[in-house]
Amino acid sequence: MFDLTGRAALVTGGNGGIGLGFARGLAKAGAAVTVAGRNTAKNAAAVAELTALGARAYSIEVDVTDEASIRAMVTTAAERMGGLDILVNNAGTNIRNRPELVRMEDWHTVLATNLTSGMIASQAAHPHLKAGGVGRVINNGSMLSIFGLPFHAAYGASKGGVVQMTKSMAVAWAQDGITVNVVLPGWIDTDLTKKARQDMTTLHEDVLRRSPIKRWGDPRDFEGVAAFLASDAAAFITGVAIPVDGGFSVHG
Ligand code: NDP
Repeated sequence: MFDLTGRAALVTGGNGGIGLGFARGLAKAGAAVTVAGRNTAKNAAAVAELTALGARAYSIEVDVTDEASIRAMVTTAAERMGGLDILVNNAGTNIRNRPELVRMEDWHTVLATNLTSGMIASQAAHPHLKAGGVGRVINNGSMLSIFGLPFHAAYGASKGGVVQMTKSMAVAWAQDGITVNVVLPGWIDTDLTKKARQDMTTLHEDVLRRSPIKRWGDPRDFEGVAAFLASDAAAFITGVAIPVDGGFSVHG
């Protein structure tokens, strides 16, 4: 039921952090995996790690703020792997500032990276996902898809948008044999949150205090949810947002 042998997956931002967690989960379940990111050294290290797990693994250099680069990524991944069954739209960034100080340049970078890239990649992947008959799109949202924070207007707008985009795609593509879901990570220890922890001195303790499971998340926490959502076990699940947050979002 959870076997992904013979399936082909593409993970944007799969060269590190949560994306590499998703990629490891898919690889361990038997899928061929292509990771895509800007940093070639990180791409190569991720391929080595996935290959060591026994997976057929590839990398592609991509800038997800560039439409042509995204479309080329999807075409190349499908060519190399002989199809594309699973697309994980994970690449993301954050530029924090109070709303009254947000520079429009930063706003557009965050929206392009976190939201528009997923639209373009999904659109480009649609014919491949449909052709295979078991298509899966897994998007990456955030706690900021649900809550607000003073420095996160752009990030929150992008991640809220990811949830609504997920629901529309799920409805539109169900008859094409494609499910579309979104994962909402809590506070996870990655490069993205390192700086936030340095800047906000109480953040580390605040997260621990609010989390029923008293720890920060780890990229390993995303292996299982990726394998599950990509598998036949999740064939009747579409359009949902799944928090992977140690209970953070349900703690009253
Ligand atoms: P990382 O900084 O470790 O990972 C970000 C990934 O996105 C990297 O692989 C990076 O690749 C890639 N990326 C960023 N910009 C681009 C770009 N323009 N083109 C191509 N690739 C790009 O952070 P996380 O693992 O934490 O973040 C992954 C996702 O998880 C993001 O969508 C983030 O918003 C989301 N998330 C993270 C949370 C957390 O607490 N960490 C909480 C909620 C959501 P490269 O280095 O090669 O550019």
